[in-house]
Amino acid sequence: MRELTSDALLAAVRQWVEIESPTQDTAAVNRVADLAEQQLRAIGASIERVPGRDGFADILIGRIPGEINGDGLLLLGHMDTVHPVGTLAGPLPCRVEGDKAYGPGIYDMKGGNVMALQALAHIHAHGGRPRLPVTVMFIPDEEMGSPSSRERIEVEAVKHRLALVVEPSGDGGRTTVGRHGIARYHVKVTGRPAHAGAYHAKGRSAIREMAHQVLAIEAMTDYARNITLNVGTISGGSHENQVPIHCEARILAMVATAEDEAEVRAKLLALKPVDPDVKVEVTPGLFRPPYAKSPAIQKLYDTAAGLAREIGFELVGERIAGGGSDGNYTGALGVPTLDGLGVVGDGPHTHDEHLLVSCLVPRTKLLARLFETLE
Ligand SMILES: [Zn+2]
Repeated sequence: MRELTSDALLAAVRQWVEIESPTQDTAAVNRVADLAEQQLRAIGASIERVPGRDGFADILIGRIPGEINGDGLLLLGHMDTVHPVGTLAGPLPCRVEGDKAYGPGIYDMKGGNVMALQALAHIHAHGGRPRLPVTVMFIPDEEMGSPSSRERIEVEAVKHRLALVVEPSGDGGRTTVGRHGIARYHVKVTGRPAHAGAYHAKGRSAIREMAHQVLAIEAMTDYARNITLNVGTISGGSHENQVPIHCEARILAMVATAEDEAEVRAKLLALKPVDPDVKVEVTPGLFRPPYAKSPAIQKLYDTAAGLAREIGFELVGERIAGGGSDGNYTGALGVPTLDGLGVVGDGPHTHDEHLLVSCLVPRTKLLARLFETLE
């Protein structure tokens, strides 16, 4: 492509954002995959498109040769967003106000994907190559924990020397050097039904029992240790004239270390009903393991910070992020992973989602320099 300008980058971002792609809408996410595939082909990538499964869209992999052979660099991004189709025509239209560009998924993480592609296109247009072979991997289901792509991410991760993730930066531009683990649980309570008017005493309320369990679960939160448990959804009962037999809840637990995860898991699996006539079942769901900063990650960060300074801006620092990403999977396998290299902005998963236009040129240049220099 031409020189890197804000206008050109913004137009490229807009092209991605205007294809709405909620995780559950397979056809929609595949339309983003079509666009990404076309853009990867245009810069000489060889394409592997892994057909979607379990109701999710395809995984898109593009391989670009480097100046040197051998294990390369894995660039991870996701194509899905949390915003339903219609968000663009409704509460979050694509628009620019001052330095802010708004749109569904523009910050998390279409802006980052586009910057990575444009950085590679920039190198390609100048007849260059990345230093190491680059594998670009776009995931269809990250917002739901990557259930259909985790395996493939891990298979690719161990074949690579390092991983860069273009998830959005945090707190005004911070790079992510570690992430907490995220575990999901399902709690099911089964009581005993009864006519609520005539035979109330015979019943055992599943909702009442769940109320006890919710308090017990949330009491496991320990902010000082970065352990949080959130009872995110709850549903139960079917009629006000029946003592409720069923109640279910979904929990998201965030932990800083694998040991903490084991501890929380043991506590949740050991939950006992307060009323012995009621059954409480806890089922673990998806788990994104935590990844911690290693000396290799520190080195990656320092390299990126040095390159940013040469370009003329400061990486404003590093952070350990609470929210999970596919970087958890690569980082937990010991592959040095630098995450949060995407855009600067705010409002992920809200109708205020935006990126800062002024970040596009410097951060795309940074990605280009990382591709050109990382060994
Ligand atoms: Zn994301």
